[in-house]
Parts: sequence; structure tokens; C-alpha cells
Amino acid sequence: MKPPNSDANAVSDARPAQALSVADAQNSIARAIKPITATERVGLMRALERVLAETVICPIDVPAHDNAAMDGYAFSGAALTATPPIRLRVSGLALAGHAHETLVAPGTCVRIMTGAVMPRGCDTVIPQEQVKVDHGEIEIPSGQFAGQHRRLRGEDLRRGEPAISGGTRLGPAELGLLASLGVADVTVRRRIRVAFFSTGDELRSLGQPLEEGCVYDSNRYTLFGMLSRLGVEIIDLGVVRDQPEALREAIRSASEADAMITTGGVSVGEADYTRDILGELGDVAFWRIAMKPGRPMAFGHIGTPSHSAYFFGLPGNPVAVMVTFYAFVRDALARLAGATTDPLPMISARSDGPFRKAPGRTEYQRAFAYLAADGWHVRSTGAQGSGILSSMSQANCLIVLAHDSGAVAAGDTVFALPFYGLV
Ligand code: AMP
Ligand code: MG
Repeated sequence: MKPPNSDANAVSDARPAQALSVADAQNSIARAIKPITATERVGLMRALERVLAETVICPIDVPAHDNAAMDGYAFSGAALTATPPIRLRVSGLALAGHAHETLVAPGTCVRIMTGAVMPRGCDTVIPQEQVKVDHGEIEIPSGQFAGQHRRLRGEDLRRGEPAISGGTRLGPAELGLLASLGVADVTVRRRIRVAFFSTGDELRSLGQPLEEGCVYDSNRYTLFGMLSRLGVEIIDLGVVRDQPEALREAIRSASEADAMITTGGVSVGEADYTRDILGELGDVAFWRIAMKPGRPMAFGHIGTPSHSAYFFGLPGNPVAVMVTFYAFVRDALARLAGATTDPLPMISARSDGPFRKAPGRTEYQRAFAYLAADGWHVRSTGAQGSGILSSMSQANCLIVLAHDSGAVAAGDTVFALPFYGLV
């Protein structure tokens, strides 16, 4: 699993290189990550959020027969060419789940329920509320066309065609679709294991008294939440003191996992000491990324040739942790898990206020998006310090100001990444 020729190696010397753009850092990470290959077979209800390991081919047509899309009367569309009034005798009843054996003769129709197989001789359905029934006959009003209100065999999925591609993360729609094919279990990639810990002498765990100058460790909780949403196996290694031996030990035990995430200790000053330990245990590059928040970050791998874990060293500031997680880690873990990755959908919205910005870095502003008569608007959630976690909690999106863009004036259109399902 060692990432060969990772770009991490190329920039891992101590030279204070020029800041890396977000896109370059994303590309370097994407190139380095090699997906896990182990798979397991699971029942459908255990497959939610798992990554499908192989493409599922349709074993049957769905639907398996032409069938009625409405409750009403089925007949041959040829009847519609007659001169009005068109009257058809009701000769039988077709219910969902019951085969209708007899041929429906011209001049007749059958009462049919939604989902019932179209009887032989019928290709058209008229909804019941549109007909007049009188003495066992229906009268069909004008404006009908042959073939209406009928679902065709195989219109959803055709036997032999791919139904869901390998690499798809299975959501509720996919589970339903697989069930509609009669597929009871699927081969999925094994769940990836992700270890994480916080570093810093100032950090206190919940339940401990908060001495002067200390803060509660919040990063482990945001990470726990963000990782849980990705459906990965989580290994929480707690708070690690700023001491070489403690750090070495934590990194060693985390390297049993597929990936490890640390927060704190990668900024200038601390980096030197972390760098030595990471250098002993693996190959990790320290990046200065052209972004705000979240400038310092480390990426690489830790471990032996037989097993190594990807290393993500995120900044310590709580907002920077979340932003760098979504900018880099989320996609990387999806890739590692064997999932095909699509960029997160963004909305285009009018900014209610201005933003100062110079070209040359990507900026992420916490904001609240709301729908007005003229479309989506976004307004800033206020103070944007990278330690101000309430700015995240009050936000429902991140405005992403692109690397090359300059200042934003009130009323300008910006792109925003909705938090829905993420945060
Ligand atoms: P560092 O990157 O270690 O220099 O940390 C930058 C800032 O983030 C400092 O103010 C830290 O106290 C804060 N910080 C680091 N780790 C955490 C954490 N796990 N929870 C809350 N704040 C943290
Ligand atoms: Mg620190």
C-alpha cells in the first residue's frame, strides 16, 4: 500500500517551498492513494454506505412485464381510431400479482389495477376517473393515445445491462434498485480503518478540569462526526502530549490502520519536532497550502514496506480541521475505500456582503445560504477566525472563493458548498 513516487516525496525536504495550491495538493494526494482491494459479501441491509466492489449486471428485466401505470381499463389502442363515441364492453378484471390468461378481444376491455400485467390484446390504459361506465360498458372521451399509461417491460432496467457500477457507494436508492432485481447480497470493499488523535499539551479531554491556558479537545469530536458520516471504521487514540515518545508511540499504533489523521503540531515551530519523528517512521511531506483557513498540512505515509498507513497531519485550529478535512481528506478516504469520487455539488448564490480577497489562495467563508425570490443568497456567519467553531455551527455552507479570484462585492455571484449531509 506504500504510495510509490508520491509527490509527497518530492516536496518533503525542509526547503520552505512556495505555497501549494489547493488543486495541486488535491492532485498529489489523489495520485498517491491506492485503493484497498479486500472485499466481503454482505446482505443488502448491511450494504448501506458500503462501496460496491464489482458492477452488478441485471439478472432480469425491470419491470418484468408490460404493466398498468394507473387504475383504470386496459384495451387495444387500435380502438381509438374508431369514430366517437367509443364504447367498449368490460370483459374481465386484471389485478396486480395475478396473471390474466384470456385474450382481450377487439371491442372489449378489462378493468385493470396499477401494476397488473397488461393482458394479451391490450397496450393502452385509460384511468378510471376519465371514463363513464354504463351497463357494463365504458365510454372513452377524446384526447387519448395508443400506449398511454402503460409501463414497458425493461423500461427501468434491462436484463444483461449494468445496473450499478463497481465503486458506487450504496445509498437508499441503490439498495432499493438491487432489491428490485432480486439481488439479496453484494460484494463490497472491506471498510477502511482510520485512526486519529489530537496533539497538544494544552488539550484536555472531556471530564478533566480545565486548568489555566488549556482548552477542551474539540477536534476529535468533529473528526469523529465527519468520519462517521463516511462510514469508515474509527480508531480513536485520544489526546497525545507534545512529547516525542508519546507521539512516536501514537503514530506507531495508528499505522496499523489504513489511514491516520492528526490535528495540531504541523505549524511552524512545532513542525520541526514532529517532522523528525515522522521522518523516522515514514515519508511525510509538510505542505504550506495557499488556502485560508488551513495553511499548514502534512501528507504521506507511515509504516513498513509490508504495511503502511496514509498520514494526514491537519492544522490544530478547529475550523481549519473541518475545512482541510473536506478539501483533502474526504475525497482521499473515498478513493482509499475504492469509491469513485465526484466533486461535491456547489450552489451558485448572490453574496449579501463583500469579501476582501487577493488572488493566489483559495478562501473558505462560513456562510448561511437562503432562498429568496431571485434565487439563492449567502450571508457570512460573522467572525471568521480559524478557531471560531461557532462560525461553522451557525453556517449551512462554505463559500469557496477560488484561487485566482479577487475581492467580492455585495451582489456578486459566488459558489458555495452546502453542508447538507457533510457537517
Ligand atoms: P497547533 O496547530 O498545534 O499550533 O494549534 C493551533 C491552535 O489550535 C491552538 O490554539 C490550539 O490550542 C488549537 N487546537 C489544537 N488542537 C486542538 C484540539 N484538538 N481541539 C481544540 N483546539 C485545538
Ligand atoms: Mg499544538
